[in-house]
Amino acid sequence: LLIAIEGIDGAGKTTLAHALARILETAGATVVLGKEPTNGPWGTRLRESAATGRLSPEQEVEFLLHDRRQHVEDVIQPALARGEVVILDRYFPSMVAYQGAAGLPLDEMLHANDFAPRPNLLLLLDLAPEQGLERIRARGDKPNHFETAQNLERCRVIFQQLELPNKRVIDATQNEAHVLRAAHAAIAEALAM
Ligand code: C5P
Ligand code: MG
Repeated sequence: LLIAIEGIDGAGKTTLAHALARILETAGATVVLGKEPTNGPWGTRLRESAATGRLSPEQEVEFLLHDRRQHVEDVIQPALARGEVVILDRYFPSMVAYQGAAGLPLDEMLHANDFAPRPNLLLLLDLAPEQGLERIRARGDKPNHFETAQNLERCRVIFQQLELPNKRVIDATQNEAHVLRAAHAAIAEALAM
């Protein structure tokens, strides 16, 4: 089972990923928790670029695709083959949203990700950029140069309009417990199908 969690910065993806992992492990599943960009060499360079703005969007796509191929091959595919649950904190839709917001064509980026296994469930945590930015500041982080309300609004709209199978939108303005309950219900529904 492949679950991808998406949304703009400050939506609560990491918090939800960890909470879901705990619940599913308690229920007896073996869970692999992954995040993209990964902490591997390509992902690390992408994160640095996101912080300093050194790479062009085209270069970011190149790095992100290298990073994802490695992640799929080394971690995601083997875990799925073992019948484990894989929970991803960002996946290819983030590339469509972020590099799309930076001006690259959405359909081309979707196509470039054809190699990536499709999520059985794509949870989109939806909230207004101002609220996400407020949470980032509240946790003591500084939004990076790209994370302006205007850029994040573009990302949000792309996430909202992206037509992908198994996509479920969750109101991320709700508290953690509500978001977790909504996500858990969506998983139960996906498993019942
Ligand atoms: O919060 P998280 O660790 O997911 O943030 C990663 C950062 O990397 C994002 O804030 C975003 O600025 C950047 N990113 C990006 N393009 C992607 C994925 C993430 O620029 N496709
Ligand atoms: Mg995060």
